[in-house]
Amino acid sequence: MASAQLSLAQVPGAGAGSSSATLPSLGDNSELSAAAERRIGDRIAVSIYRDPDYMDDPVLGDYLQSIWQPLMAAARARGELNAELEERFAWEVFLVRDRSINAFALPGGYFGVHLGLIGAVSSADEMAAVLAHELSHVTQRHISRLMTQQSRQAPWMIAAMILGALAASKSPNAAGAAIVGGQALAAQGQLNFSRDMEREADRVGFGVMGDAGYASSGVANMFEKLQQAARLNDNGSFPYLRSHPLTTERIAEAQARAQLAPATKLSGDSQAERGKAQLLHAMMAARARVLAAPGVDGLRAMVSEARQRAATPSPLQAPASAANIRDAGALYAGALASAQLRDFAAARSFLAPLKPLTAEGQRASQTLELLAVEIDLQAGVVPPSAASLDLAKASTRAEVLTQARSLMAAQRAPEVSSRLQSWVASHPRDALAWQLLAVAYGKQNQSVRAIRADAESRAAQLDYPAALDRFKAAQALMRSNPGSADYVEGSIIDTRARQMDLLIKEQALQDKVDR
Ligand SMILES: [Zn+2]
Repeated sequence: MASAQLSLAQVPGAGAGSSSATLPSLGDNSELSAAAERRIGDRIAVSIYRDPDYMDDPVLGDYLQSIWQPLMAAARARGELNAELEERFAWEVFLVRDRSINAFALPGGYFGVHLGLIGAVSSADEMAAVLAHELSHVTQRHISRLMTQQSRQAPWMIAAMILGALAASKSPNAAGAAIVGGQALAAQGQLNFSRDMEREADRVGFGVMGDAGYASSGVANMFEKLQQAARLNDNGSFPYLRSHPLTTERIAEAQARAQLAPATKLSGDSQAERGKAQLLHAMMAARARVLAAPGVDGLRAMVSEARQRAATPSPLQAPASAANIRDAGALYAGALASAQLRDFAAARSFLAPLKPLTAEGQRASQTLELLAVEIDLQAGVVPPSAASLDLAKASTRAEVLTQARSLMAAQRAPEVSSRLQSWVASHPRDALAWQLLAVAYGKQNQSVRAIRADAESRAAQLDYPAALDRFKAAQALMRSNPGSADYVEGSIIDTRARQMDLLIKEQALQDKVDR
């Protein structure tokens, strides 16, 4: 979203208006091909996966997906997202452990969301407003048009430049990541979206989020929040807003759009649904604030807030009242923060008052169950729920992976590997699942399979040389110990090793062509 140092181009010191004069007009077709854009995106993704601030949190990931998938469906139905682009691009949303309020679109359909953004927005509607705007920059091919301007530069150079801009947009107090080179920094600022592009992303994004069922007031609320946050924190973590000339105009446009949109009258049922959604959001925002590593003092403040709430709970209402929603957020944050401070008794003490608050909503109560398991696992005990666990019934990614961990703690590795095997068959790019599968095989002394699963987790993160190394290690182990794998396993490994080899060669060749 542009007006908050969001978007790949939110680079310090560069006014958005400055680039519009040199841009091809909207609608002409001097675009980078989708395949070429994806290649650049993949290069950037490889670096991001290795960045210590890249974060794969299945609980927050599922939450983002629950907002993202309806937006994708709406964009598809409106004809903004065509079949070719959908097939070519990654459409992957990832989390960045950073307290600044930021989200950005990258080439090839990769999207980054800072934990600070999830922690700051007050509803799924606001989150949807940001994501729909970013999604629209990509479906409208704004990025490809910007990169066409850079066509004299090699893709690796563009990728380096974008990585530099990304590093520069991080909050100065976030854990430092070394993904930036001097050259990249020097070149930053050249990928700013133009005013027209921002307007178009606002307009298209607004339609997409409305069709996906989100309240249109989310956009204006979000803009105001970002402006306010920037005023409060004028310490360099909002470089984009300081130089952005469009904010007032964009807020006014967003408000006008929201007023023109047909007013939706909430029925009793949808009011109840809204209450449930708000409660879930409060818990997810709390999770984001804890995982953003606010430091010991920050965690302690969350714990003491939770203590107060637990001591004086608001009366339970259905649909959840604003006070109930605040309680749920505070208790969730207190539980997770206590666990991070390794005070597991305190962490568990917040679960009981949280339970009645989440009883109404299926997703909220499932979230609470996962939190209980997470606390046990962090405490190093086998979660009591593991005794009755049927991993075959787990459906969401967070459930599958969290329950797999709990069964592993209960020494039931064979069940874990059989469930994860079918999971990765349908989710081959799930690096975390492959890693867990490697551990599960390791516990069963199935070394070749463990190494192969490890190799697949590298391949899933596009690190083909590392994957090839491991496939070769698996081959070596099979040669030295012929009984260590069966024929099928062996031929899969041989095939995958050849594929990795080919991918590496293709990439090297592409480098020459692109250069
Ligand atoms: Zn934007």
